[in-house]
Amino acid sequence: MAYYHIKNTIVEEGSKKSPMSRKIMGRIPHTSLAKPSSSISPDSMGKDTLHLLSYKGEFLKPCPGTKEYICCGYQILNVATNCPLDCSYCILQSYFLHQPYLRIHVNLEENLGAILTFIDRDPEQIVRVGTGEFADSLALDPLTHWTDILMRPFSKRKNAVLEFKTKTNQIDGLISSPYRDRIIVSWSLNSPLISATEEKGAATLKQRLEAARRCQAEGFVVSFHFDPLIPHKGWREGYLKTIDLMDRYLNPKGIIWISMGSLRFMPDLKPIIRKRHPGTSILDGEFITGLDGKARYFKPIRIELYQFMRRNLEKWYSDLGLYLCMESDEIWGKSMGWSPQDSKGLKGFLDDRVVRIFK
Ligand code: SF4
Repeated sequence: MAYYHIKNTIVEEGSKKSPMSRKIMGRIPHTSLAKPSSSISPDSMGKDTLHLLSYKGEFLKPCPGTKEYICCGYQILNVATNCPLDCSYCILQSYFLHQPYLRIHVNLEENLGAILTFIDRDPEQIVRVGTGEFADSLALDPLTHWTDILMRPFSKRKNAVLEFKTKTNQIDGLISSPYRDRIIVSWSLNSPLISATEEKGAATLKQRLEAARRCQAEGFVVSFHFDPLIPHKGWREGYLKTIDLMDRYLNPKGIIWISMGSLRFMPDLKPIIRKRHPGTSILDGEFITGLDGKARYFKPIRIELYQFMRRNLEKWYSDLGLYLCMESDEIWGKSMGWSPQDSKGLKGFLDDRVVRIFK
């Protein structure tokens, strides 16, 4: 997959001289310099325009979980916001409704010292970091070279891991790096139908798994995220097909964890999905409002989804580090047969896997 077509680039005044801005500009063959426009339609979200800017907030922040559900204690490294892919269910559509464009934080290197100081402050504390929450971790890597900037410092630390989460097969930056330790390459997966119809611009399932196989062969630890699970027509056969493909392409022993979550969204996302993705079928189900105000499937549906996935993934291999994203103790117990009880327990479970897999 070639990297996405960038039509325009906006460079914020104070960021013109930044080394990262210059390098990125040098890597874009055809783009015109533009000014921010007040007339960007929320429908386009400015996904063909790169906006290079200095980020004023904190680069490393805990994942915004809610106290009502069990959260994994992940830290988000905020390297960019927005994404050139266009999944119908993407929460960024409402998060960044008023912040269009592919916003790249070009002062990342200047802030790396503070990020590492935070990690180094307690060598006993494991810090799991990811760049794939407000953007796809690798979609823009051919332009930004995040892999170049981040892999070395993370590889040198024994109490941290860095997870690159993607729906692309853009792994050249990873493969050409000499660093492997403490790096996790991660793919979001779904059924073949949901992948093909609801994840616009993403690599096909087969391409994602081919990329994962290559990364395993190159010595990387990998992980997967079945999120959002969506009960659609033929979902059981669909998800089984994906698990079959995983079996064909991957060595399960090299998987550090697989998360599962079901579709959930704040109410303001619904009209945006309807408008931006008129052909979508993801809103066809029935939803209730969860304790965090998000719409989600009824409990029995969520439990059935997770039980089905767990049963079939564990048939493939029994030690995959399966966990649920943002679910309650009750749902954990009923669908997984055990529960970490709270966020501290889940953090401990995942930290133990880090220690075990990266011995
Ligand atoms: S890949 Fe992730 S960040 Fe990008 S559009 Fe899809 S859900 Fe959103």
